[in-house]
Amino acid sequence: MSTTHELSLDRYLVPFSFRQVPLYRFDVVIIGSGVAGSGAAMAAANRGASVAVVAKADLRESNTLYAQGGLAAVLASPDTFEAHIADSLHVGCGLSERDVVERVVRGGPEAVERLLQIGAEFDRDDAGELHLSREGGHSHPRIVHARGDATGLEIQRALCGTLANHPGITTFPNTFVVDLLTGPDGRAAGVLTRTARGDLVAFSAAQVILATGGAGQIYRETTNPVIATGDGVAAAFRAGAVVRDLEFVQFHPTCLYIAGAARVLISEIVRGAGGILRDRHGVRFMPEFHPAAELAPRDVVSRAVFARMVSTHDTSVYLDLSDIDGDPHVLFPGISRICRFFGIDIARDPVPVRPGAHYMVGGLKVDIDGHTNIPGLWAVGECASSGLHGANRMGSNSLLEGLVLGMRAGTLAAGEIDGFDMLSMTFRRSHELPRAPAGVRVNIEDLIYSLKSLMWRQMGVERNRSGMEDALSKIAFWARAVNDLGSTDARSWELVNMLTVARLAALGALAREESRGVHFRTDFPETKPEWRVHTVLAPTLDGERLTRVEIRREPLKDQLPVG
Ligand SMILES: Cc1cc2nc3c(=O)[nH]c(=O)nc-3n(C[C@H](O)[C@H](O)[C@H](O)COP(=O)(O)OP(=O)(O)OC[C@H]3O[C@@H](n4cnc5c(N)ncnc54)[C@H](O)[C@@H]3O)c2cc1C
Repeated sequence: MSTTHELSLDRYLVPFSFRQVPLYRFDVVIIGSGVAGSGAAMAAANRGASVAVVAKADLRESNTLYAQGGLAAVLASPDTFEAHIADSLHVGCGLSERDVVERVVRGGPEAVERLLQIGAEFDRDDAGELHLSREGGHSHPRIVHARGDATGLEIQRALCGTLANHPGITTFPNTFVVDLLTGPDGRAAGVLTRTARGDLVAFSAAQVILATGGAGQIYRETTNPVIATGDGVAAAFRAGAVVRDLEFVQFHPTCLYIAGAARVLISEIVRGAGGILRDRHGVRFMPEFHPAAELAPRDVVSRAVFARMVSTHDTSVYLDLSDIDGDPHVLFPGISRICRFFGIDIARDPVPVRPGAHYMVGGLKVDIDGHTNIPGLWAVGECASSGLHGANRMGSNSLLEGLVLGMRAGTLAAGEIDGFDMLSMTFRRSHELPRAPAGVRVNIEDLIYSLKSLMWRQMGVERNRSGMEDALSKIAFWARAVNDLGSTDARSWELVNMLTVARLAALGALAREESRGVHFRTDFPETKPEWRVHTVLAPTLDGERLTRVEIRREPLKDQLPVG
């Protein structure tokens, strides 16, 4: 069963000609320097491939940098691979692909070993063994962490050191990937970028690996840094790539909400230490929603917080740290510092919090090795839908996935570089960029803010048909306007990408007439067995325009007939 959705989107965002654009040539080009891109780069370069790593900001800036809790891996008994696999499948609510879960979980010890080899320093116990903590959903302590909650910082430090020092890797920070280049046969052939100086530069490569991270920035409230605008997913979709399960967006229930302050994530540890969620009247409400109260699963807490905000007509709820065990200023110095700046004493005053978009569960559809449907194009990390997370993501499984599947894709891509003839590729955009009529100007920042607000209101922790249909028609209207006026700078390209990802997420969410994992519909609150399927969205390319999206259900691998 499938439906279609009409759209009109240019294949390429900018006109270009190969006579004018300088061209770098590598065996493998990797977009993204977070855990997945860096893992892929190390592996490909170790196999002798010449590797380019392209990142749109400083190499360190990524979702990886901000990861707090850590990386899950089975490292000590009584923990077992089977237990980690079972936990991941349970949290995935029936939509995880078992073979992928097994591969990622079994790759955990090697991934941690690799990080140690490149100099990452993790917290250790008195006996000198890696200290393993335990998080929601995990049945055993298995989370490797660094300096408490600075795990991402430490992993990114070690990875960036390797990127800088490996003779086979050349890095290109502050280089924005505008589009994927494909040959006449549809095969990936490289990327078109714009450098910080504003020049267009093309990279040609036999293998292109996308590791562009998430898209939290499509929401007004998000824990993600500004780079997380879904560029890789949108660019690959324009080139014909199929996306999957984008309706599953994980929200973190407690982000600091002070107008003007960054939306800092206040981790579960604070609630674990005794932090209580109260509404504006001081009433503790979580026991009404779940027996585990403040320590219920993230999606449950997010929905409860949202419901309480609505019923009390407030913009947030409040985290009360006045009764926790110990001095909150000492236990949570980062949160204490930020709050103090805004006049909040966390030992005494309630801390305003609300949910924020945290992790994009869906993404580019890939097989167990990371191949997309476009030959020569791979996707790894948060931009990919590998099948690991199903309908929800277990904490600390994403750094693990990025490293294990990133390294695997890098290794395999390095083995597929022979026989690539760049000269046979004829890729260019033929028509000129549209121009705005005299006097017509678009305020890009205003549109971005409108999109983020719309997504938060109508595609947030709770969705329903009328809200999503309205969101889709607004997004289609904005997308047409931005497309027709032509986009010439990175911020407008990000807007096109955010509109594209938002639209695909809304299409997936509208199609899925049930609630499962992090996708909650007020008009379909039950989980339905017939919806134990993936939602797949496939573009139709007509020359240099995308004209349609086909939306269909796809069985999981364990539902396919054997043989
Ligand atoms: C606050 C926070 C805490 C988290 N805590 C944890 C945790 O404890 N454990 C865990 O497992 N996960 C955690 N996560 C999730 C995890 O950090 C991410 O899922 C993971 O780091 C994603 O890695 P990645 O390599 O796929 O992408 P990223 O690390 O986001 O890297 C993306 C890269 O792509 C580049 N890029 C993007 N677009 C373009 C473009 N157009 N041109 C060129 N380059 C581009 C960026 O510059 C960047 O280098 C957390 C996330 C956040 C936000």
